Formats: sequence, C-alpha cells, structure tokens
Amino acid sequence: MTATGEQIAYSDAYARTAEARVAAVDAGDTTTVVLDRTVFYPGGGGQPSDRGLIIRAADGRLWTVRGAHKAGGEIVHELESDGSDPPRVGDLVQVDLEWARRFALMRTHTALHALCGVVWRDYGAQVTGGNMEPGSGRMDFEFERMSADLVGTIESTVNAELAAARDVRVAVLPRAEAFAIPDLIRTKINLLPEGIETIRTIEIVGLDLQADGGTHVSNTREVGGIQVTGYESKGRINKRIRISLTDG
Ligand SMILES: [Zn+2]
Repeated sequence: MTATGEQIAYSDAYARTAEARVAAVDAGDTTTVVLDRTVFYPGGGGQPSDRGLIIRAADGRLWTVRGAHKAGGEIVHELESDGSDPPRVGDLVQVDLEWARRFALMRTHTALHALCGVVWRDYGAQVTGGNMEPGSGRMDFEFERMSADLVGTIESTVNAELAAARDVRVAVLPRAEAFAIPDLIRTKINLLPEGIETIRTIEIVGLDLQADGGTHVSNTREVGGIQVTGYESKGRINKRIRISLTDG
C-alpha cells in the first residue's frame, strides 16, 4: 500500500466531495476500500463516521459507503454489501458525503463544545465524556450541584453564546505547545498516547478550547439553537445533559 492517504475532513470540514484513486480493496465479510484521498470522517471522539457514495469515473458505477473507521492510520470505507463486484485498485472515483447528515453532525458537535464551554466557565465542571447523533447529543460532567434550575439557565446561556456568532477555529499544535495551554489540560489532553507529536485543537473563540479530532462548523451562528431534552444523575458527582438542535 502507498503512504497514508490525504484526510481532507480534518483541514476542511466543508469539503463534501473529492476525486480519488482506489489504493486498496479488501473483499471480506464487509468489503472495505482505502482511497488516496477522502472527505470521510472515520468516527471518534463521540462523533459517528460519515456515510456516502463512491462513484467510479469510468462507468458511473456506484457503491454505498455505510460507514468508515481508521486502521493503521488509514481511513477505511465500509461498503454496503449488494453482491456486486467492488471497485478495483487504481480506479479513478469520486467520493461523496451524505452531506445533510454530516452537516447536522458538525452543528451538533459544535453545540456540544459550546455546552462544555459554558458549564466549565460558569460552574467549573469538567466534561468526562460525550456522544452524538445528527441533531442530538449528550455530555457527561463532574457536576455535583446540577439541578433543573441550573439546566434551564445553561440552555439559555448556550443559546446566547451560539447567537453571538463566535468563530470556530481549527489548529494543529506541537505537543509541547498544546501541553502548555491550561484550558487544554482540563479536557484530559494528558491521556493522549505518548507517540502523538501534534495535537489538533478546536477553539470557539472566547468560549471553549479543546483537543479534538471531529468536524465542526466555522461559526456558532450556523448551529442555530439548542434545547436541553433531559438530564440525569449517573452518581453523586457524575451528571448527564442531553440536548438537541432546535431545528432538528
Ligand atoms: Zn469535540
């Protein structure tokens, strides 16, 4: 196999399509395809992987990509099994995201960062985990004094922050530089494996800074608004907040 393919989603979350060459095909139980470049996000950090299509330039044949994952540093596309022959190594293809779903994930992911930022800034509570689907998600916090009243306040504060049209910036920092930033330490950056030399950060300017691999919108106004749809105790200290985007 050739060197690691170009992984466009990390630098340009808005790229929906790319032309690529098939670099590897593995026709197992699930047929998998590696391309020399892709717009797919492979999943991770609570954000599910993308779905979409691979279309062969020569004849317009298309394959549905039902998911993706990372293996050996490569983004691996998982094809829907339809009994047909897979593409061949060397084929020129177009790789397309299911964009409505991805954009909903970008908005949801950014909303969760705004929630983290507000809960940390206003209550000093650390996030311990999270998960999302397109349009909804949950975050867990070490947040002993969470209550119904506080959750209502948090919802309106997050909505005000989103409406403030804050820019969302992506950066890639050398490890030592990232470790010197106090805001990053709280997101348990120190748990990242030793071998990682650069750290990708997502900053909602003036509100939140996290080490993160996912895809986000470039300004909070694209999120719209959120609604807190539930909250629960996972113990004395650990609390969970569920949100959804107000327009789905
Ligand atoms: Zn994130």
